Amino acid sequence: MSGSKVKKMAGLIAIVLTALIILPFLVTILSGSASAAVSEADLKKLKEQASALSKESKKIAEELKSVRASKASAIKEKSIIDNQISVLEQEIETTNLIIQSLSEQIAEKEQEIAEAEQQEAREFELFKKRIRAMEENGTASYLGVLLKCESFTELLCKTEVISEIIEYDKKLLASLKATREQIELAKQELERDRAEQNEARENLTSQLEALEIKYREQNDIIKDLEKDEATFISEYEAAMKEMERVNKEIAKMAAELAKQKAYVGGEYHWPTPGYTKITSEYGNRYHPILKKQSFHSGIDIGAPQGTNVLAANSGEVIVAGWNNAYGNYVVINHGGGQTTLYAHMSKLLVKKGQSVKRGEKIGLVGSTGWSTGPHLHFEISIDGKTKNPKDYFKDLFK
Ligand SMILES: [Zn+2]
Repeated sequence: MSGSKVKKMAGLIAIVLTALIILPFLVTILSGSASAAVSEADLKKLKEQASALSKESKKIAEELKSVRASKASAIKEKSIIDNQISVLEQEIETTNLIIQSLSEQIAEKEQEIAEAEQQEAREFELFKKRIRAMEENGTASYLGVLLKCESFTELLCKTEVISEIIEYDKKLLASLKATREQIELAKQELERDRAEQNEARENLTSQLEALEIKYREQNDIIKDLEKDEATFISEYEAAMKEMERVNKEIAKMAAELAKQKAYVGGEYHWPTPGYTKITSEYGNRYHPILKKQSFHSGIDIGAPQGTNVLAANSGEVIVAGWNNAYGNYVVINHGGGQTTLYAHMSKLLVKKGQSVKRGEKIGLVGSTGWSTGPHLHFEISIDGKTKNPKDYFKDLFK
């Protein structure tokens, strides 16, 4: 999500909220003097505003969800990179060990070469001694020339053409030279291996550097997404707060309308007979979208999809419609300022303005609106203020 999109969204929400706050009809209603004149039309207008707000907050919730999904995948990507970095670091460690072992072997070869050279030098000295002895005995006086040779190699060349050289010495010295050369070849091979390993290590190191850059980039992406998430959460909270305010006004108005009639009398009837498991209590609870505590204005009753929803008392259906939060919902006016609300239904079986009897079927349990599974959200309001419905069913909840 881009920052500009977030800003655009925030701007849109601000306009919607401002429009709602300055609604002139609200001012009239809240001024008090007109409270007696509250009409169904006023209520309808206010409900339209609540519905618009609900739509906006749903949009924000969707954006929030998408930002969270992006964040989750960015975190996953980061952890993949992190794993790749560990693998590379291990490979580099292994390469380092190989290089170390090769260096040790090369040092050993160098030691062997030094020893071979010393042995060659010793043999050469012995050889010269023997030549000198032969010369002193007069057996090979001309060989004195050879003693002036500057190097062993030079001497060997000369010995090639001098048949009198003792074959044994020649062979011995040649074999020593061959041994030394073999060691040198072995050493060169080790050096080639080490060069290869060094190259491999360089390659791994540059891969590691590239991954580390990617890792930091991924971190930045996550930070940006967290910022977007925070923006959407505050926009969502603002929209919810405003919606709560509008809903309170709706409840107040509904109560005004309810007061225009006398209470129908009698006790409330449980709306889902046979199903009394409360999956979410009235009052403060954990909000699945905001991921923190928020106020729950009713109780959630766990019941299978399609379970009958019954009117808690006789009265007039003042709402039978759709709201993004409540899904398909019904509000019944029981008179005397008392109303009941039934939300998330899969099907509505009553119409606005219709009279219903206590225990009459008004709809079917569903999971419409902001709901994570089939249940009935049930509210009781007295004079526009929600009450804990369980307090009205003491026999069921002892
Ligand atoms: Zn609920």
